[in-house]
Amino acid sequence: MKWKKQLLDLTPYQPGKSIEDVKKQYGLEKIVKLASNENPFGCSEEAAKALQKSSGIFAKYPDGYAGELRSILASHLGTEPGQLIFGNGSDEVIQIISRALLGPGRNTIMAAPTFPQYKHNAVIEGAEVKEIPLLDGAHDLEGMLEAIDENTSVVWLCSPNNPTGIYINESKLVSFLEKVPEDILVVLDEAYCEYAVADDYYHAVSLLEKFSNLIVLRTFSKIYGLASLRIGYGIAGEDVVRALEPAREPFNVNTFAQMAAAEAVKDQKYVEECRNRNREGLEQFYSFCDQAGLSYYPSQGNFILIDFKRDANEVFQYLLEKGYIVRSGAGLGCPQSIRVTIGSKEQNEEIMELIGQFLEETAAAL
Ligand SMILES: *Cc1c(COP(=O)(O)O)cnc(C)c1O
Repeated sequence: MKWKKQLLDLTPYQPGKSIEDVKKQYGLEKIVKLASNENPFGCSEEAAKALQKSSGIFAKYPDGYAGELRSILASHLGTEPGQLIFGNGSDEVIQIISRALLGPGRNTIMAAPTFPQYKHNAVIEGAEVKEIPLLDGAHDLEGMLEAIDENTSVVWLCSPNNPTGIYINESKLVSFLEKVPEDILVVLDEAYCEYAVADDYYHAVSLLEKFSNLIVLRTFSKIYGLASLRIGYGIAGEDVVRALEPAREPFNVNTFAQMAAAEAVKDQKYVEECRNRNREGLEQFYSFCDQAGLSYYPSQGNFILIDFKRDANEVFQYLLEKGYIVRSGAGLGCPQSIRVTIGSKEQNEEIMELIGQFLEETAAAL
């Protein structure tokens, strides 16, 4: 068959191990999964209630315009309804952008390591990918600017960056945006923005007025706790949204996702509570790592990348066999680190105890 050549070099997304697999494989009862940056507290009760009320609407197509959610979200964000584009997860918005702007003869610029879907989609579209290594966990914005040439059509920023948790501060972001040519789309993926608390964290939506070549991506999968429903969105100027819309499938976001997301947006108290609990969890990890002599990046997300200065798969495997699933950095471009999603207080304590055990056992073995 005449597959696109670039497809043959790609591997399918490797999901974190599933809970059921690990139970079976190691004969365990209890599994704690802190591998995919899901919200350990689940979604808002209001969102869950909306789903309970939604039975009986299976036979109808969803609202392809997501009208109700669109107006609720626009008023929450302070944008026009026409500034939003919805996706089956923000993953799909990444795909839509790639379909619309990337192809042979074009190139795209991103950090490395960062969220893998930017590169994956760019490769499928046949564009050249320019990866600019992170500097101490942060985007090398100067390096990214230098990589821009006349064939560049999209630049990807991930802030807070997955997997390091480091954010771009407001002044750096603004001065970067001022230097990117206006005909190049800058994608600012803010999947974790609701977790950010830094004083110099920017307000992305207000940057849209000044920068017409900016699109901001957000998701209901992380702090909103709705990952299984698959819904994310982009916020941009109305011209950008209008240009992208034909690349979106008409019924890409299902009815249940729309209903739950609308309720979730209204419950900002819950979001705040999750943000606070996440901060407390991060502090738990910071003091544990400091005591254990492990280095890590300070995180504005709901995860922490911990450097073990040894093959991360060993730590990963040790935790896995005890029922704690984390993400090995091996597949994320950080082979000596693991990425742990911040869990509940108890989950954090349990995993820190196991990491402590691992360190003791392996130190004894040396
Ligand atoms: C989780 C994540 C996404 C994808 O979110 P979905 O909306 O579930 O597709 C996008 N970007 C980053 C950086 C993420 O970590």
